[in-house]
Amino acid sequence: KAEMIGFISFREDVTDKKHIEEIATKDEMSGLYNRRFYKEIIKKEINRAKRANSNITYMMIDIDVFKQYNDTYGHQEGDNVIKQVSNAIQKSLMRGSDYAFRMGGEEFGVLFPNTEPQYAVSIIDDIRHAFSNIKHTHEGSTFTVSFSCGISKYPGFSNTSEFSDAADKALYYAKNKGRNQVHLAEKTRTPDNE
Ligand code: GH3
Ligand code: MG
Ligand code: MG
Repeated sequence: KAEMIGFISFREDVTDKKHIEEIATKDEMSGLYNRRFYKEIIKKEINRAKRANSNITYMMIDIDVFKQYNDTYGHQEGDNVIKQVSNAIQKSLMRGSDYAFRMGGEEFGVLFPNTEPQYAVSIIDDIRHAFSNIKHTHEGSTFTVSFSCGISKYPGFSNTSEFSDAADKALYYAKNKGRNQVHLAEKTRTPDNE
């Protein structure tokens, strides 16, 4: 009988540990990995790519004019779209090596080791089509649920903050150019980094 109790408590420990790991690495609403885990993973993957002489593509995704969506349909419906987008991103990942993150709000990150940027572009293209029939209007203008994306890659950017900043800048550029588009961060030669 004593052995039986021991067995049960062992199983509970494992479940607890798994639960704690989930809370620490996952975003509760979307089920995707969280920003904290992103920082851990990106560091590991860059180191791995350096050793293996391989490449990484990282894509940041931000939903366009999403504040208007909330204004039209309410915050609850907005949350629903965020969940749907999260599911679509998760489902689009065909390889066990890829990671999807909810970085905060309506902003996501997807990390593709051993891949060229074109792969990330094709994935967001499929997701874009799936949401293009969801319309919302604001002050006479019609919007669809669309996405602006910034991509950074290794080789090119070679540490965690460079990698994130570059994707962020490329995303900002996509927004400025009119949204619903993807931009690839280029490493430019400036007097600073020459
Ligand atoms: P932009 O095209 O420039 O990205 O416009 P935007 O309105 O999407 O602006 P931005 O990305 O700066 O702000 C995000 C908005 O999305 C703010 C808020 O109204 C909404 N939002 C952020 N997080 C959540 C969330 O968890 N749930 C809901 N329902 N809305 C959110
Ligand atoms: Mg947005
Ligand atoms: Mg945003």
